[in-house]
Amino acid sequence: MARNAIGWAAHDQSGILSPFKFSRRATGEQDVTLKVLYCGICHSDLHYVKNEWGHSTYPAVPGHEIVGIVTEVGSKVQNFKVGDKVGVGCMVGSCHSCSNCSDNLQNYCPKMILTYGSTYYDGTPTYGGYSNIMVVDEHFVVRVPESIPLDSAAPLLCAGITVYSPLKYYGLGKPGMHLGVNGLGGLGHVAVKFAKAFGAKVTVISTSPNKKDEAISRLGADSFLVSRDPDQMQAAASTMDGIIDTVSAFHPLQPLLSLLKSSGKLVMVGAPDKPLELPIFPLLMGRKMVGGSCIGGMKETQEMIDFAAKHGVKAEIEVIPIDHVNTAMDRMLKSDVRYRFVIDIGNTLKAN
Ligand SMILES: [Zn+2]
Ligand SMILES: [Zn+2]
Repeated sequence: MARNAIGWAAHDQSGILSPFKFSRRATGEQDVTLKVLYCGICHSDLHYVKNEWGHSTYPAVPGHEIVGIVTEVGSKVQNFKVGDKVGVGCMVGSCHSCSNCSDNLQNYCPKMILTYGSTYYDGTPTYGGYSNIMVVDEHFVVRVPESIPLDSAAPLLCAGITVYSPLKYYGLGKPGMHLGVNGLGGLGHVAVKFAKAFGAKVTVISTSPNKKDEAISRLGADSFLVSRDPDQMQAAASTMDGIIDTVSAFHPLQPLLSLLKSSGKLVMVGAPDKPLELPIFPLLMGRKMVGGSCIGGMKETQEMIDFAAKHGVKAEIEVIPIDHVNTAMDRMLKSDVRYRFVIDIGNTLKAN
């Protein structure tokens, strides 16, 4: 039997969230049902509730940085049991038969089902983690290691894997590499921590000089570059093996390309809503490349969170009650958060 759920939803492109009652499917044979304890607020949530990418459907319950406790498992579930601490990220389904799925790259499956804003196999809309319970196919659930606090683990499910996967795939997360991280927000700050844990040298590139102390002393970056300072940028030219570009606002790529050594890689993980200009000449002169990356497959997501636990990588968070979510969205829009909001769903989302 389907069960009653409560959450917070946006009902139109004002993006304003309010309490919302809906139902979740009964726990299927391969499903894990969890009580949601924490959910991070990702910039995508804001884009989605305001329909900034043009494909939102309402009511919209966002949230794809979800951690909680398993309360029920289906008869064929193999990897989880009641009481386990688990996480759910950006996707809850894929075809299981295409070449991407076979390669554990469910994130690139053409039939991938997003945690919210997609249609599930049963025809119902998917609703995300700003809600009290989730019912998820066990293939899309990861185990959260005991040593990570659940609240600061939540952002790893999207922000963490978004930066971990390209560090591995593009060969940038290893000793001897000099990595630039452009933008020091939700994605950027975990990129710094993962890259340092991999043994790379890390330079933060930012428009705000006032983030320098924190980038170095709190997050562990080796150096800091103010992108609006031509002298600093000139001095750092041709010094980086790669750059993870987390900025989702429109910005010029030429200054970043000039920081790369020959054969350097500029990897885009932010999602600007307008196309950026790509100057070709700097790519030719030095065999540079521009690539992209989008979250990671389930196997790699588990590997990421296990690595984070082992190396003490966690998100820097500000925990809020659910009824502060609209204020938090406004503050996030102004970059007024160090560095990720996490909603305390377990203690603050009540039936009334
Ligand atoms: Zn996200
Ligand atoms: Zn597939």
